[in-house]
Amino acid sequence: MKLSKAYWQTYKEVPTDAEVPSHQLLLRAGFINKTTGGIYTYLPMGVRVLQKIKSIIREELNSIDAQELLMSFVTPAELWQSSGRWDSMGPEMVRLKDRKDADFCLSATNEETITDVFKNTVSSYKQLPVNLYQINTKFRDEIRPRFGILRGREFIMKDAYTFHLDKECMDEMYDKYYQAYSKIYKRMGLEFIAVEADGGNMADAGAKTHEFQIIADTGEDDIVTAKEINYAANIETAATLRNSLEFAPSQKLQEIETKNLPTCDEVAKLLGIPLYQTLKTLVYTVYYPKKDGSLKEAHYLLMLLGDDSLNEVKLTNYFSGAVKVTPATEETLKSLDLPKGYMSPLNKEAMSVVLDKAIDINAGYIAGANKEGYHIKGFTPARDIKQFKQVDIRMTQLSDFAPDGKTPIKMRKGIEAGQIFQLGDKYSKSMGATVLDHKGKKVHPLMGCYGIGVSRTLAAAVEQHHDENGMIWPAAIAPFDLYFAVIGKKAETKILADKIYHELRAEGVDVLHDDRGLGPGGMFKDADLLGLPVRLTLGERDFEASGELELKIRSTGETLKVKKDDLSKTLKNIFAKLGKTF
Ligand code: ATP
Ligand code: MG
Repeated sequence: MKLSKAYWQTYKEVPTDAEVPSHQLLLRAGFINKTTGGIYTYLPMGVRVLQKIKSIIREELNSIDAQELLMSFVTPAELWQSSGRWDSMGPEMVRLKDRKDADFCLSATNEETITDVFKNTVSSYKQLPVNLYQINTKFRDEIRPRFGILRGREFIMKDAYTFHLDKECMDEMYDKYYQAYSKIYKRMGLEFIAVEADGGNMADAGAKTHEFQIIADTGEDDIVTAKEINYAANIETAATLRNSLEFAPSQKLQEIETKNLPTCDEVAKLLGIPLYQTLKTLVYTVYYPKKDGSLKEAHYLLMLLGDDSLNEVKLTNYFSGAVKVTPATEETLKSLDLPKGYMSPLNKEAMSVVLDKAIDINAGYIAGANKEGYHIKGFTPARDIKQFKQVDIRMTQLSDFAPDGKTPIKMRKGIEAGQIFQLGDKYSKSMGATVLDHKGKKVHPLMGCYGIGVSRTLAAAVEQHHDENGMIWPAAIAPFDLYFAVIGKKAETKILADKIYHELRAEGVDVLHDDRGLGPGGMFKDADLLGLPVRLTLGERDFEASGELELKIRSTGETLKVKKDDLSKTLKNIFAKLGKTF
């Protein structure tokens, strides 16, 4: 493409709400344009990258026999009502009415539609497995859309769905998708880690699921890894263990005055003991659905070691039948006679108690005395709480060991670019999808679903690959391969540039020819901002003096001179090193 004839401009300024590099650079380099909060137009330069990402995805999915379909973006309420998600999806899902007052929503995901398609079209085990995908728009009215297209409200997703007769087949397919995803991110030239994850509202608690996290400092997700034993998990579910701790022995209960010292930290300091020898108590309210559609609430006392913090995802998964799990309100605490800062399960036999797994229930701790201004010493859970459950509800700390109990962990920041799930019969059962098995019996097929945030991946690539001058596109997904800059005004130079442009294109190199006649300063600034893998410069004076052109590799900053006749060979070598062949 010749820039003199193209629609493309760059910008110096970015709006103040553009906080992360990808948001700033994609706006500055004319890849996206903001329509309104969380909703963007992809300009031609952005669309080129999207298309490259999509075609890598398509190639890899087609190679595991997935077939592409296209589902509707607007879906009727009945489908979501039949799966139960019309109510559970919450305000993220945008609902609308048609002229006949019928309810619809904008698709936030498509399990319901695909299960309906399956019901209408598949009836026998002989047609299984079914393996379908689409690349389509999704809408989620995110509470805080931010970071440009990293967390948009409208975004582009690849979502795949599979149906199986048995678990073995579902497992096999899961593995195929895991491998295909690994190839997809690798081919895109992105550093990623596949991590054990939480299923959110997609799958039942505990269902097998992995996220594909693109490593970037600006990532919103915390990833826990222990490379030596091949362990990687999102912190939301990481079942790491505490380093060994020296707990205090159990002893007789003894009240101690701790006036105006409501935190574990203050009390531990007062007594000169490690923070983990205290127990903190939290109160959570859990809402369960009743048959008549109303909600029943229950309050739980939670205990954690004083220096641990609560992991709400783990807690929510523990209360798997609940629709909402939230900290108890001040009024609730008052009604339960629990003084904030001084509470514990002591003498609260009527309340349900959940202890974190890291607590040694036979050790003695400092805990609240359930009396304003007082704590107790020697609190021994096994002795002093009548009934409790012990569950892993704590947040991983950097000093933890991996689940093997001995390998130290590392933490990294990641951007969730994709997630794969085993759904089991969650949707086929609730929506009544069946097939006839070998014996002619109706059975609910098992399902898997597999998402990739296509637009988020574009932005994540920029987060991972940029510097102070602009973007640095991996060769596989760059909008063009080569930025061809020309310095000089002579007619022969223009003719030569045009010749080189056509020769390179004939060899399959996707050239962006800067023939706008700018000075080198402006041209090189734009080239760096745009971040194509290689810049080729034809400088009139240099060429006349030496017959050489200049090549610059964007990722390394390396420059080299090349004779025109060697250009093609040299470029082939450079691109081979950058992972692209012509
Ligand atoms: P997150 O935890 O970041 O909100 P999610 O787990 O809700 O994402 P999934 O339901 O797993 O997302 O959707 C599949 C993929 O779609 C995600 O892995 C992500 O890449 C992408 N995605 C989800 N929400 C957004 C969004 N608001 N903007 C852009 N991409 C998104
Ligand atoms: Mg996810």
